[in-house]
Amino acid sequence: MEAIVQKQKQYFNNNTTRPLSFRIGQLKKLKSVLIRYEQELTKAISLDFQKGGFNTFLTEFTGLYVDLDKTIKKVGKWAKTRRVGNNMLNVPGSSLIIPEPLGVCLIIAAWNYPVNLTIAPAIGAIAGGNTIVLKPSELASHTSAVLAGMIRENFDPSFFTVVEGGIKETTELLEQKFDKIFFTGSVAVGKVVYQAAAKNLIPVTLELGGKSPLVVAPDANLKICIKRLVWGKFINAGQTCIAPDYVMVHKSIETPFLELLKKEITSSQFSLANQNYAQIISEKHFDRMMNLIPPEKIFTGGEYDRANRFLAPTVLINISPEDKVMEDEIFGPILPVLTYEDINSAVTFIKSKPKPLAFYVFSESSSLCKKLLNEISFGGGAVNDVLMHFSNDQLPFGGVGHSGMGNYHGEAGFRNFSHYKSVLHKPTWFEFPLKYYPYSNWKLAIIKRVIGL
Ligand code: NAD
Repeated sequence: MEAIVQKQKQYFNNNTTRPLSFRIGQLKKLKSVLIRYEQELTKAISLDFQKGGFNTFLTEFTGLYVDLDKTIKKVGKWAKTRRVGNNMLNVPGSSLIIPEPLGVCLIIAAWNYPVNLTIAPAIGAIAGGNTIVLKPSELASHTSAVLAGMIRENFDPSFFTVVEGGIKETTELLEQKFDKIFFTGSVAVGKVVYQAAAKNLIPVTLELGGKSPLVVAPDANLKICIKRLVWGKFINAGQTCIAPDYVMVHKSIETPFLELLKKEITSSQFSLANQNYAQIISEKHFDRMMNLIPPEKIFTGGEYDRANRFLAPTVLINISPEDKVMEDEIFGPILPVLTYEDINSAVTFIKSKPKPLAFYVFSESSSLCKKLLNEISFGGGAVNDVLMHFSNDQLPFGGVGHSGMGNYHGEAGFRNFSHYKSVLHKPTWFEFPLKYYPYSNWKLAIIKRVIGL
């Protein structure tokens, strides 16, 4: 690991990655490589968790192609030195902000969208002029292997390389002196990464998870709400960091809400055979999921097939905050439905938990939406939709508090992998004499006047 990092440091220090032409060239190459490997990656994802091609294109590739095109087009603008205003104490002169690359970056990814979560941060890192060591998740092992081959065959390892493996390899990587660590994964491992980074004062981005709530107000457009909720919750079998984790529905509409929910789940025909669903990634995760389902609280679903790691979309009712399913992020196809009567008590409940990665509200009342957006702290979210904020590259994507720190996508990705160097540039033909010794009261009086006192 040390040799890999050393080699990249040397490559970086030779200034190879800094020119804009290099960055754009590598981004274009990444796009064409992705197009070439799309089939192979799709097949690997299907081997990892039986996800179909349409599903994979939608959730893995669409965002990457959009992000790549936008970044290729805009990186020249983002990377430009920006002149900002000067103050009286520094006239004449100019003040500049110069974006510069951070250096050798480590990207550690989760398994649930194994292509998107590895390549999307890499786009920001390349645009910023950095080198990359990528560590995909060992749980999506087929995809990890194809990614490793894809990068090895097309990129100079001094610039971009993949290290495969699990805890052992990641721990070893975390001992190296990177210039930046970008981590996507669980809160528990996020803490491990943060601590390891602190030893070398390495800046970190943590893209974590948490329990993302969805509030359904009495005036919500129920038909649309259910359609969007069922799509967003059960895509990838609920293994989505920003999937609604639990629903809080107003008591007055609980019955129609549940009936429509059941209908929509049935008509969506989620199954592994028709390729609109996914397996639970591992037996360990499958067993964890089964432990969260009290049979007497199943409203619909609950069917499973352990040998195939299949769990049907499962809605739980009569859920209280003390139920096990309300402790940690579910990260699977289980949807607990809670009710509320007073919106303020719902807000208090949500605020009693760690700040979520996403928050969703369905309501036709702009004042209610405004109130919730104002009072609840969360990474990102949507009004009358779920998940789709992820797809707009102009919305920085990331968490807050326990759901993470830092953000990326589009320009935010470039910023994430850049340092903004502040520089004051002064000519030598003029001198501001007042700051020099000997100090005196009249000099102080003039300085005070200059700064407006
Ligand atoms: P994880 O934390 O178990 O693993 C993430 C990465 O860390 C993997 O590459 C893994 O090899 C490595 N790792 C695991 N244990 C480690 C340890 N002890 N020391 C060092 N490295 C270790 O997470 P996961 O199961 O892959 O992903 C699920 C979690 O990720 C969920 O909490 C989900 O919400 C979150 N997630 C967040 C986002 C986001 O963008 N915020 C996206 C996807 C997933």
